[in-house]
Amino acid sequence: MKRIIFSFDDGRSDNFENAIPILDNYGFKCTLNVVSDYIENPDEYMRKSFKDVLPMTVEQVKICANNGHEIALHGHTHKNDATDIKNNIVKLNSWGICPEKFGFASPYSYFLNDNCPNISEMLNSGEISYIRTGIQTNRKSLLYKALLWLETKTHNNFLFWIINRENVIINSQNDVFNSVTIRSCTKPSQIKYLISKMPDNSSVIFMFHSISNDVKNMWFWKVDYFKEICDYLNNGKDICVTTTSQLAK
Ligand SMILES: [Zn+2]
Repeated sequence: MKRIIFSFDDGRSDNFENAIPILDNYGFKCTLNVVSDYIENPDEYMRKSFKDVLPMTVEQVKICANNGHEIALHGHTHKNDATDIKNNIVKLNSWGICPEKFGFASPYSYFLNDNCPNISEMLNSGEISYIRTGIQTNRKSLLYKALLWLETKTHNNFLFWIINRENVIINSQNDVFNSVTIRSCTKPSQIKYLISKMPDNSSVIFMFHSISNDVKNMWFWKVDYFKEICDYLNNGKDICVTTTSQLAK
């Protein structure tokens, strides 16, 4: 069995409008990593980090939670900071979203095992159930950057596998998970190839931002692409689409 996880960052309105209906149609559950201050005070975020992208409403976040999708932390104000994570928990609780434990998706995939001791402490003490992070290109070797550049230009399946194979989760015991970043240049065939190369009993988290046909920047992925992947997974053998919290169990 291969486990596939869709993890959506920030709490963007297009996730609710475009991705959730497709997922619901297949009966797939996903993880939504919600920046609570963006939801409540969108203006500044839309000017800066999340250019022109509207957030979900509190009501929409609650609908997703009630439909079995996982609501996870992404910082109250999109920071890698223990206080910001605690504020995120308080705010989600005030909306009536009260899971036994929340997981945390690190903004900008900044988290490493040794660079955020206060966040590691939250994981070790059981305040949060897992940390989802990923590759930060600026920390990687020149060779990696060159391969990424080539992959971006060519959309080559094998190169996509090479630069992402370290993100496939073989052992989900340590509760710090890497993820595969999906950018506007990523093709569905590359995702399918990566899934085909995954060993049995491994897992992968695909990190998305916006799902929309109005592609404004590299953080958008087309609705038809998303549909194509869901259809592929639905027809796949020994594939389970699940949430990050299920992986952490
Ligand atoms: Zn984010």
